[in-house]
Amino acid sequence: MQRGGGRQSLGRAPPAPLVCLGVGRRVSCPPAGRGSEGDAPPPSTQVPSEPSPERWSLLCTGKAHPCPAPSERHSLPFTPALTSRAQVQRALLALTIPLEALQAVKDRMLQAMRKGLSRQTHAQANVRMLPAYICSTPDGTGKAAQPGDVLLWLQASAGALGCLLQPGCWVMGSSWPPPTMPLQLFDFIAQCLRQFLAGISSPQHRLPLGFVFPFSCRQTQLDKAELISWSKGFSCSDVEGKDVVQLLQSAIKKQELHHVDVVALMNDTVGTMMTCSMRGEPCEVALIVGTGTNSCFMAEAQLVEMAEEISGQMCVITEWGCFGDDGTLSDILTPYDQHVDQESFNPGEKRFEKLVGSLYLGEIVRHVLTALVAEKVLFTGRSPSPSSFSGRFGEILQSVTGLLAPECMATLLPSVDGTGQGAAVVTAVALRLAAQRHEVDQLLAPLQLSRADLERVQALMRREMELGLGLESHANASVRMLPTYVRGTPDGTERGEFLALDLGGTNFRVLVVRVAQDGIRMASEIYVIPTAVMQGTGEALFNHIIECIMDFQLKQNLLEQVLPLGFTFSFPCQQLGLDKAVLLSWTKGFSASGCVGQDVVQLLREAAQRKQHLGLKVVAVVNDTVGTMMSCGYDDPKCEIGLIVGTGTNACYMEEMRNVGTVEGEQGRMCINMEWGAFGDNGCLDDFFTDFDRLVDEKTINAGKQRFEKLISGMYLGEIVRHILLALVEKQLLFRGKPCPKLQTRDIFQTKFLSTIEIDGLALQQVRAILQDLELQASFEDSLLVQKVCQTVSLRAAQLCAAGLAAVVEKMRENRGLAQLAVTVGVDGTLYKMHPRFSQHLQQMLRDLAPNCTVTFLQSEDGSGKGAALVAAVACRGAEP
Ligand code: ADP
Ligand code: MG
Repeated sequence: MQRGGGRQSLGRAPPAPLVCLGVGRRVSCPPAGRGSEGDAPPPSTQVPSEPSPERWSLLCTGKAHPCPAPSERHSLPFTPALTSRAQVQRALLALTIPLEALQAVKDRMLQAMRKGLSRQTHAQANVRMLPAYICSTPDGTGKAAQPGDVLLWLQASAGALGCLLQPGCWVMGSSWPPPTMPLQLFDFIAQCLRQFLAGISSPQHRLPLGFVFPFSCRQTQLDKAELISWSKGFSCSDVEGKDVVQLLQSAIKKQELHHVDVVALMNDTVGTMMTCSMRGEPCEVALIVGTGTNSCFMAEAQLVEMAEEISGQMCVITEWGCFGDDGTLSDILTPYDQHVDQESFNPGEKRFEKLVGSLYLGEIVRHVLTALVAEKVLFTGRSPSPSSFSGRFGEILQSVTGLLAPECMATLLPSVDGTGQGAAVVTAVALRLAAQRHEVDQLLAPLQLSRADLERVQALMRREMELGLGLESHANASVRMLPTYVRGTPDGTERGEFLALDLGGTNFRVLVVRVAQDGIRMASEIYVIPTAVMQGTGEALFNHIIECIMDFQLKQNLLEQVLPLGFTFSFPCQQLGLDKAVLLSWTKGFSASGCVGQDVVQLLREAAQRKQHLGLKVVAVVNDTVGTMMSCGYDDPKCEIGLIVGTGTNACYMEEMRNVGTVEGEQGRMCINMEWGAFGDNGCLDDFFTDFDRLVDEKTINAGKQRFEKLISGMYLGEIVRHILLALVEKQLLFRGKPCPKLQTRDIFQTKFLSTIEIDGLALQQVRAILQDLELQASFEDSLLVQKVCQTVSLRAAQLCAAGLAAVVEKMRENRGLAQLAVTVGVDGTLYKMHPRFSQHLQQMLRDLAPNCTVTFLQSEDGSGKGAALVAAVACRGAEP
């Protein structure tokens, strides 16, 4: 048997798997004749009666069978020349399946498993592949159950009860008296439970109970399972289709056992797997061969389409006893098998089980003997002692598995007291996981914003916008609402050749932009600004910029021309004209001295003079948001908003001049650079900051500033995640609480990791690989948790951004007195563009918060370069006659 269906079926390379064989329910019948050439057939204790003529014909006209050839089989009982020994061997040959045939059976089983896993074909599948809602096996540290845990287990079919008082200390209940099941099965079980609890000095506090229920169930949670159908001789009315956990829980309540809680229901296969996992090596497959047969294994959750779990692992119960019910096994069924099936209470069903389970093996043997008797090959046979067979089953299973699945190394581990302990383990794991989940939820709760929270953020943003626009209130607003002196978006008639500078993004660039009838062409060069220059003197910074421009003009053969220059300067500026911008503060790691309070165009001109560079004609200073809006506006005239979500975040939009108290004039519109990154710097967002946000803020070069930006943009999201992970480690909820020195390093967890980790359907193995690079040894659960943290942080960022935009679009709609506004947002920034969910979450939340606005998002291609040129072009357009 292969774990997870093996490489062929599920396309994944599993680690060498282990197989558990539940020998607690050992097969005590002889093996089904595989490779047993020298063995004497089993003895017959009673002389079978002469079979009827019809039976013989059934026996001898079995359908196509690979071995022996049908013609040989027909002649079987009628060849007097054969010795009795040879006749016996002949008879048994029918039960011999060649390896190629077994290989074919394996392939069909894989196919049947795939059918059961797929949502589309599940309903018709014979091998049902039922999710068990067990997502992890014990890690072998023995931590599943701890001192103080009191766990009960109860096994419905075998009628057994047990109680785990502390690890290793078991109190076993005696078996109850079935098989004659009373009508009210669950009441009966609950009564047994009460008697059992009276017999042990059970503690008074809560008793979690794991319920082993080895019947086909449609499970939707660990403690929710509808019985599909009874088997193994059980047939209590009114249970099929009902949640058996609830039935048991109410029966327990009726017995006034209020402290007993059914927390987990599991199949016996699962119990067996869990028990075997407790012994060091993880065990990920379990096999039951007893009265019936079944198996389970840990599969990649995303393959289990019936469970809505896409990440991690999920235990799947194959329910393979019904394999072959659609006829897929007909070529290996012998006449003996057909007989057994016909005489069973469910003919045509459970065909695989009837070839494997001990309930049927004896019957098969009986039919073989009957046939031999009929041939007058009576043997008095020495009776082989049962022990001569014990172990044979396992040996054969092991060697045939090795032959059929040579890529997988399966170790058979007999389960001792399988289901009972397993149930306790599942229960313990469930409890611990629930407790941990609760702690994780509490830790993440402050980062999860409700709709009401977001409406409040939207309202606060709106208030700050009004304050920022007002002449009187402007000074007290955290959102500065800076006029840009850009009064119009492109109309498509702009023409010419322009220089552009882009400072304030990840790279400093110089560009030449040609705006022509057939579109825009650009050439650019990236220049490095060393940190020492970024954080040195203003003179050095602007000297450096002029040097870069001169170098570019030289390379582009532009030194002879005086081209209008647009300067994308992505820092907060108080603009006093299109070419006059006073720097208000540095952000994004810049801190060059002597610049704040100065007009940056003037600083640039002075540097040009120092460098004797006379051919510079600066016509416009542009923020990157404005550049983004302008460049998208060139393609879409509805684009009247610019948004950046990259290293930082900011937005601009077209506001009515009559609302801009800080600039003279009432006519037309002007683009307002909101500088919304600073939203909340006056304390208005304090309720929304978490401890993690405060830790991140404290360590920045502008602590207490750009508070909104620090919840949203690429420079900070990774850091927020890092601080949350540290807190989880500290609380022993992650990486088993082991200290992670590398995680102490600032900025080690980059925002781009969020993008990778959150890719839809990413195998956890890949999350592990990322974490491994950070020297973090993550288990599957750890990987899931890290994923959840990343999702929480990026979702919050996108939603806050949506709340901000909602305030903007609603204001624009009201400004224009429209019932419905259709507007386009030009967007730039690597976080927005690269994160797999950010834009989706942003747009969804925006639709929710501003239902009267239809907002289209247009990604800007090189907004800051193109945009600066377009602002210059629009300005020149206006200046020309
Ligand atoms: P800027 O905003 O400086 O002009 P970008 O828009 O390129 O520059 O944004 C850079 C920021 O984007 C980096 O600070 C980084 O945090 C973030 N980032 C880089 N790669 C990714 C990615 N794959 N997914 C999400 N964020 C990313
Ligand atoms: Mg940028």
